[in-house]
Amino acid sequence: MPRPIVATIDISALKHNLRVAKSHAPNAKVWAVLKANAYGHGLERGMRGFAEADGLALVEPEYALRLRELGWRKPILLLEGVFDGADLATVVQARLEFTVHCVEQIALLERAGLGSDPTLDIHLKMNSGMNRLGFKPDAYRAAYARLRAIPAVRNISLMTHFANADDPLNPGLPLLQQMQRFEQGAAGLPGERSVANSAADLMHPELRADWIRPGIMLYGATPGAASAETFGLKPAMTLTSEIIGIQRIEAGETVGYGSRFVAAGPMTIGVVACGYADGYPRHAPNGGPVLVDGVRCGIVGRVSMDMFSVDLTQVAGAGVGSKVTLWGEGLPIDEVAHAAGTIGYELMCALAARVRVVEV
Ligand code: PLP
Repeated sequence: MPRPIVATIDISALKHNLRVAKSHAPNAKVWAVLKANAYGHGLERGMRGFAEADGLALVEPEYALRLRELGWRKPILLLEGVFDGADLATVVQARLEFTVHCVEQIALLERAGLGSDPTLDIHLKMNSGMNRLGFKPDAYRAAYARLRAIPAVRNISLMTHFANADDPLNPGLPLLQQMQRFEQGAAGLPGERSVANSAADLMHPELRADWIRPGIMLYGATPGAASAETFGLKPAMTLTSEIIGIQRIEAGETVGYGSRFVAAGPMTIGVVACGYADGYPRHAPNGGPVLVDGVRCGIVGRVSMDMFSVDLTQVAGAGVGSKVTLWGEGLPIDEVAHAAGTIGYELMCALAARVRVVEV
């Protein structure tokens, strides 16, 4: 019998969340971001869920090829671009659009002997302050001009990425300051613009531009403090398991590795078939939320590789075989993530290969 832990992926929730993204930006086209195996949901499932998107964006060339094999005919955008001749062969073969963010990538295109047919669609990335990928605003025009001079280049779109769209007043780098830098650096350059991730799409109508690039919201979680439910988003991944053991303990007894939890009185402890080797965060705290038979209860002791324990003292009737919801329907992944000091993105992406995945 397989372990009872199962991730259920709701394709209709992916479709619904895409509609929510579009409803916030009715005049923009949508790159649905499905990097990292569609944020852990499965590439092919993401492709089906986002069938109505105008394009799919990801970072892995091999997954882009796979999308073509699976029959995706609309645009595909490589968000980190091309790094060598093999990547270039892939973009030509699979008709991929790709980001250019550094001079090394321009030099690669210049010396590649790409011929004079204009076929390549490029997204020139500006580093407007995040200091991850991209050309600084004062180097942006020169990069644009070099690309424009390559005969094989057809369209050049303009893009940047926000560090704080979920926290627009962040004193480190306020969102509007980033946008102003982008607008100044790109002023007058022709080409479609894309700037908005989920947080910008949900909360900053002024930043939606020609295309939006939502990721996390499509999976039913949010990047910021407001809950996904507030925005009408539905969880696309629900992770469930079962209680596989029960212990009754007395005051002074401890639970789990390191004996970090000490019972204050008599307790009923349930052992859940889910651990960090399934992708559950090891740093989930005592009291971290789970649902047992739909009743909210708290984690006790450390999360171990295959199991962790919960306090069932108040859950009438719970026993071996009781259903446990780790996150998803009824228990937002964002809440579980925040309790463990992380973000919903990380939990989704860390879902382990050994977890059975089913679809509804
Ligand atoms: N655009 C780019 C360039 C990204 O790297 C990402 C994800 O990190 C996104 C869009 C989607 O961001 P989010 O998942 O926060 O919507």
